[in-house]
Amino acid sequence: MADYHLSRYDMILPLEEVEGKALLANGVYGAYDVVPLSCIDSIKSGGEWLDEELFERLKKRGHLVKESAEEELKNASLLTRCWWLLPYRAIMDLVIMPTYNCNFRCDYCYERKRLEKGNEWLGHSMSDEVLDAVFDQIDEYIRQGRHIRNVFLYGGEPLLRTNKKQVEYIINACHDREIKLICVTNGYDLDQYIDILEPDWFDFLQITVDGPKEVHDKRRFLAGGQGSYEKIMKNISLVLEKGLRVHLRTNINRSNLESVMELPKEFEKRGFLKYPNFYWYFKATIGCFEDDPNNAITDLEMYETMKAFGMDKKTALQHCMLYGQITRRVGGAIAAETYPPLRPAACGAEADMLVVDPDGKLYTCWDVVSMEEYTVGYTDLEAKRFRFDLNFPKWRGRTADRLENCADCPMMMVCGGGCAIESDHAYGTMDKGFCGTFKEAFEEVVPYICGNKYKESGEDELGGSWYDLIGNITDEDKETLFSTMSQLEAQDILKKYLRRYKRIFR
Ligand code: SF4
Ligand code: SF4
Repeated sequence: MADYHLSRYDMILPLEEVEGKALLANGVYGAYDVVPLSCIDSIKSGGEWLDEELFERLKKRGHLVKESAEEELKNASLLTRCWWLLPYRAIMDLVIMPTYNCNFRCDYCYERKRLEKGNEWLGHSMSDEVLDAVFDQIDEYIRQGRHIRNVFLYGGEPLLRTNKKQVEYIINACHDREIKLICVTNGYDLDQYIDILEPDWFDFLQITVDGPKEVHDKRRFLAGGQGSYEKIMKNISLVLEKGLRVHLRTNINRSNLESVMELPKEFEKRGFLKYPNFYWYFKATIGCFEDDPNNAITDLEMYETMKAFGMDKKTALQHCMLYGQITRRVGGAIAAETYPPLRPAACGAEADMLVVDPDGKLYTCWDVVSMEEYTVGYTDLEAKRFRFDLNFPKWRGRTADRLENCADCPMMMVCGGGCAIESDHAYGTMDKGFCGTFKEAFEEVVPYICGNKYKESGEDELGGSWYDLIGNITDEDKETLFSTMSQLEAQDILKKYLRRYKRIFR
C-alpha cells in the first residue's frame, strides 16, 4: 500500500442526499466510485488501513495509483490517442453554408463583421460548382469508410427564400446518401420551406428565440428593423405539427438574462411543451464576441438565475446548455457497463466538424466563419476535393492533455480544454485551456447525478473505467499506440486489453 497515492486526476466530492458516503470522481479515466465517508483520510494517504476489497477496487478503477504526475499525464495522452484511433473517430459532421446573407441584423451576432464586406459578397449563394465539389468530396469520404453523421445547414440564414434551389439540392443529396440533416435557422422563412422539410430526413431544426416578444424583437429584428417574434412562433407550431424535431435555443447575455425566464411559460401557453419533438435550452453568448464586456455573462450566472426564478434543479440542469452537456457526458459514463465516453477535445471544431462557406473556404469552427485568419483550407473545384492548410492540424491537435494549464485538471476528459476562440481572445493563443465556469458546473452536476444513480442502483462502482487499459498494457503496446497511424493496428492492440470492447468496436 505504501507505494500508492490518490491519482492526480481524482476529486473527492459529496454525494447529494446520501448520508455517510462520498464520491471519488476521476475525470480522466472516467471512474466514478462511491466510498464510505469514514475512509476518506485513509484514501488520501494512499489507502493505508483500507480493507482489502475496497483497496483493490480503488486500484483497479484508477483512483489509487503508483504513477507519478508525469506518468499520469502520459496516461491521459494515451487515452487521447485511443480516442483518435477508435472507430468512432471515423465520424464527421459537415456544415454547409449556402450563403452568408441573413434577413436579420441581431444586435449580438458574431457574424456581424461579414456585413462590412459589402452587398455583392454578402448576397451571393453557393454555386452549383461548389455544391458538386462538396458532395463529390463527401462521396470520397464515404468510400474511405468515414461516416458522415450529419450535414448541418448553416449561414448566414440558410433558409432564405432566395436560397431554395441550393437548399433543395443539399437536402436531396443528403437523402440520397442517407445522411440526416440538422438546420440552424432563425425560423423566419420556415413556412416557405415547409413543403420540402421531411421529418425523417432531419435530425432537428435549431431555432433561436431570445425572450418574450418585446425583448426578442429588440434583439432579433429584420434588416428593415421589424420584429420577428410572432412569425417565428407561428412557424415553430407549423413544423412541430408536421413532426419535425425542434431545439429552441435562447442566447442570453446580461440584457435579457431576467426577461428570458418568462419563456418556458410562453412555450406552455402556445402548446409547444406537449410535443415530444420539442426541446428548449438556454445558452450564454460567447463572451469574447460581446462589444461591451459588461454584457457578457457566465454559464454559472445563467444557471443561478434559472434557479433564483424558481426552476427546480432537474429542470435547470436539463435546459442550461453547459450543465446539460456535463449531465450527458458523465451520465453516459455512469449509465453503461462499458467504457466511459472520452472527451479530450472541447467541441466539434477540434474533433469532427468541418464547415464549408459559400465560396468553398473551409473552417473548423462555425463561429469564426468569414474571418480569414481562421480558415483551414479551401475546396479545389477542379479536383472536387478539400485541400487543407497548416492551420488545420492546429485545431485538430488541440486536446486538453496538450494544453499547459489543463495538464493537472481532474475534469480534463469531460471538458476537453474549453473553447479555443475564447482562449485565443483571452490569452492570445489557442494553446491554453479556457475554463469559464466549467469547474463550478461539474461540481454542481456530478454529485447530483451520481447521488441519484447510487440511490437507484445501490452500486458502488458507477460505470466502467479506462484504467482497465492503463493498468495492464505493456510498454511495447503503449509505444505502438503512440506511433501507429493505422486504426486497424490500434484496434487489434486495444481488443487484447479492453474486456468490454464490444460496445466500443460496434
Ligand atoms: S471553438 Fe469555441 S466557438 Fe468554435 S465551435 Fe468550438 S466552442 Fe464554439
Ligand atoms: S479548460 Fe479548465 S476546466 Fe477545462 S480541462 Fe482545462 S483546466 Fe480543466
